[in-house]
Amino acid sequence: MKFSRPQLNIGMIRISLLVLVLLASLALAGFSARKAVQGWKLQHFRQTRDAKGKLNLLVITMDTTRYDHIGCFGSLYTRTPDIDRLGYGGVRFMQTVATAPITVPSHAAIFTGTYPIFHGVRNNGTFKLAPYNITLAEALKERGYDTGAVIGAFVLHGQFGLDQGFDYYNDKFENPNPKLEFFFDEIPASEVSRLGNEYIDQHLEKPFFLWLHYFDPHAAYRPPSPYKELYGPANLYDGEIAFVDENIGKVVKHLEEKKLLDHTLIVLTADHGESLGDHGEPSHGLLMYDTTLHVPLLFYLQDRLPAGEEVKEMVRSIDIMPTILDLLEIPQTKNNQGVSLLPRLFGFRQQTQHLQALIENYLPYFNFGYASLEGLRTGDYKYINAPEPELYDLKADVREYRNLFQQKPRTAARFEADYQKLRRASAGPNADKFEQVDMDEETKDRLRALGYVWASSNSKSGAKKERKDPKLMIDFMTALNRVGEMIRRERWDQAEEFLKALLQQDPGNLMAMQKLALIYNKTNNTDGAIEVNKKMIENNPDFLQPHLQLARLFIRKALAARDQDGRKAQFDQAIGEIQYVLAKDNRHVQAKSDLGACYFTMGDYARAEEVLRKALTENPRYPYLYYNLGATLAEQGRYADAETEFQKALSLQKNDPDFYFSLAKLYQKTGDKKRAQEYREGGVLAAKKLAEAEKEAVEGPVGDQPQGAGPAKARRRPAH
Ligand SMILES: [Zn+2]
Repeated sequence: MKFSRPQLNIGMIRISLLVLVLLASLALAGFSARKAVQGWKLQHFRQTRDAKGKLNLLVITMDTTRYDHIGCFGSLYTRTPDIDRLGYGGVRFMQTVATAPITVPSHAAIFTGTYPIFHGVRNNGTFKLAPYNITLAEALKERGYDTGAVIGAFVLHGQFGLDQGFDYYNDKFENPNPKLEFFFDEIPASEVSRLGNEYIDQHLEKPFFLWLHYFDPHAAYRPPSPYKELYGPANLYDGEIAFVDENIGKVVKHLEEKKLLDHTLIVLTADHGESLGDHGEPSHGLLMYDTTLHVPLLFYLQDRLPAGEEVKEMVRSIDIMPTILDLLEIPQTKNNQGVSLLPRLFGFRQQTQHLQALIENYLPYFNFGYASLEGLRTGDYKYINAPEPELYDLKADVREYRNLFQQKPRTAARFEADYQKLRRASAGPNADKFEQVDMDEETKDRLRALGYVWASSNSKSGAKKERKDPKLMIDFMTALNRVGEMIRRERWDQAEEFLKALLQQDPGNLMAMQKLALIYNKTNNTDGAIEVNKKMIENNPDFLQPHLQLARLFIRKALAARDQDGRKAQFDQAIGEIQYVLAKDNRHVQAKSDLGACYFTMGDYARAEEVLRKALTENPRYPYLYYNLGATLAEQGRYADAETEFQKALSLQKNDPDFYFSLAKLYQKTGDKKRAQEYREGGVLAAKKLAEAEKEAVEGPVGDQPQGAGPAKARRRPAH
């Protein structure tokens, strides 16, 4: 190859030293033929790895992929020939434990070799990887690698910090597969692979590290044809995995065609699994059983790793980075908490014999105000520190159905002590600080609209034992999901009754209250909706969203009021609520947009325009500011200016039918019939897509947040 470098003598000295060490260890361990072969293979690997210059690195993370839904990890059902080729041609780790069943904390652990308690990212969406962390990309960049990443979903957008150390970080979702929740805006596997291959083409002559993130197996499961048909409605999840497999195959074939496969190390893993109903958990992120923690892990390097080697001992996702660095002859980073599995790749077991994994799940705490889950997993046992603690004998009870905590007090006490010890030893600078990311206002707003509640973590203070145990809330969450189904079918009365019963069990439950408010909203029970929103505020004083909901309800009452005074009183209340939000958070972009919409509805176009234009200077990427401004201008007959604003709104957000219809109306008014027709059709199509997405949305209790009301849109006042 072109970038071979001269063989230095020092390398030979090191290798002879290694041989000595090897021989010494062989002598100690007792000589055996197998060990000699292993030693020879490892030595051979170390000797030859430089022959062709620096190895390239391709890391593939499959989101939400259970290890046992991949062929070479034991699935008889899911067809994954391309992953199997890598698995059977390389080394498979059959018992790899992710540190957390949530996307960002788990990816941060993979790419820093540290536990969440060290790297500080404890949940999706509201944390950012801090600069004190040293990422794999940084370590490789320092060694002259070009570093690139293609991200499959918004959840790993650069602003959450995983872009640290990457020269190229593709996190653009301009043509996302429209999922109802933007947070899971994604690009399909075919696009990830296409962009990945493009990156490879630009790096034929220069060593690279490429990370490809495939999001498809995450709910909602919507594999394209032919996988949709092949797997059928009951197994769409497997269809998604099979679709990803095909696209991983395209990258591997591309490497082969470009003659790069023989010196590209490929590592494939997942951030977490998927419960698929086990333990009552539909998706992931609420509990901490192996269905969501046990992930696939394989290392492939053509002809240079022992093909077919199967490692049965437990290893951890924090061991991936140190192993990669070791394979690439790069020193370990100072923060590293994992071990290099390189010797294990060649059959030496010492490193992997008695590993302990620190596991945690803080999503229940941050998203629902429930207890967080933490614990310790070894090859044999799992201990979970929950309000009702758990201990499982994984050898006898793989599915973790028999909690032995009471029955085996001595084992439980030992695990509890080990857990505390490892936790203390692993803690980083932000271990208990929970410093959350100061993200851009648009993102924050989109998160708010999804019900991402910064409030729930602060609102219910109290010790772990006083918080609700997530496993005891599973039935509650399942019931709540059933309400989602009733709402989709517009069975309002049934849903209302169901929710009221649920709220008796958990009176402060924010998701249940949000759903109840939604029902009252849909059924025009304005007073009912006002009451529920007030209760939400009472329970979560820091949660600002209900104030904006209230504002919208007061506007509705104003529009229905019979006399001027009554109308004014309601508008004043609406403005009061919005101003309250702005007083608490003067960057709240939705509040600013809603204020503009409110002035518009009052007929005060001058103030509407002033508020919206000012907000736009601070938030130039928020589509509703443009939309509301467009409406304000159109109402005054300033069509050319209005058109510009509406078009900007549409360019920022393509799935809102109202954006199209407003333009259609505008073109109608200006006599451009052709374009009016075009945009009407666009609106109809967008509405259809939105309805489809709504229908197909799988409302998991966890990753998939409740749909909050979006920003207010300028609505015309009815003539009086
Ligand atoms: Zn994930």
